Amino acid sequence: MNYSLTLNNGQRIAQLGLGVYKVNQDIAVELVGTALDLGYRRIDTAALYDNEQEVGAAIRKSGISREEIYVTTKIWNNRQGYHESKEAIDESLNRLNIEYVDMLMIHWPAPKQNKFVETWRAFEELLEGGKIRGIGVANFNIHHLEQLLESANVVPAINQVELNPTFQQAELRAFNSKHGIATEAWAPLGRGKILDHPALAEISAAHGKSAAQVVIRWHLQIGNLVIPKSSNPDRLAENLDVFDFELSDADMQVMASIEIGVRASVNPDDFD
Ligand code: NDP
Repeated sequence: MNYSLTLNNGQRIAQLGLGVYKVNQDIAVELVGTALDLGYRRIDTAALYDNEQEVGAAIRKSGISREEIYVTTKIWNNRQGYHESKEAIDESLNRLNIEYVDMLMIHWPAPKQNKFVETWRAFEELLEGGKIRGIGVANFNIHHLEQLLESANVVPAINQVELNPTFQQAELRAFNSKHGIATEAWAPLGRGKILDHPALAEISAAHGKSAAQVVIRWHLQIGNLVIPKSSNPDRLAENLDVFDFELSDADMQVMASIEIGVRASVNPDDFD
């Protein structure tokens, strides 16, 4: 069971997927295999995560038809540029060894390099080759998107950003939505650090669900794509078990009040 959304490029995408940042190579094949067995059908990796090869191997090994699994990868900051990004994508495809990726992202805008517009032009061309089925961005603030949209022929399908109940990104979500860009939450559990918030304890108790499940459910109900990471098979199953309950309007109001507007990670303006 999962919910799905339709992106601006027509792709149907499972709202809940698995992120594999910091999933070490030595466990990645088994972990992704376990996730696929449990019912995950969407994997979010990146060149940076150093596990594309293992993600691809797990997908091939699973026996699940390639069309049923949605794979995202991203090119890293030091590979931006029109030619350089095309080379980087070839390398990612070789490592993944799965014929095509469903979603390719610019990992960070890296504004001081000022190359994301030409990188995007390369991405747009890659869509015509068939090996890249969708293109998106990550960590784009509103003004980065505005700059990109000035010359883009293809509107990003997804903007993947830091987002959790303590940092809800309402303005950015509204901007994305206005432009038909799906918002995806990275570190959706606040890397586990927000799960002991007292407000979550009450909601958890009321629904007989864990704090992580409540947070994932909140993401689903506000329309985010969401990719919690776990290296623990039990928590993989727990994080997927969020389709048999619903947060009430009152719960959602409590969740809204958790916002403190502070990032745990760096502002994309300051990261190259
Ligand atoms: P998450 O918010 O997904 O948190 C992961 C942490 O929470 C891990 O320590 C995990 O521990 C713990 N955890 C997971 N499930 C549970 C649970 N049910 N109960 C208690 N603890 C739990 O952080 P991530 O940074 O991993 O973000 C998710 C994904 O987003 C990444 O894997 C990556 O794909 C993407 N991402 C993208 C970025 C970008 O720049 N575009 C940046 C960062 C992340 P354990 O593994 O032991 O279960």
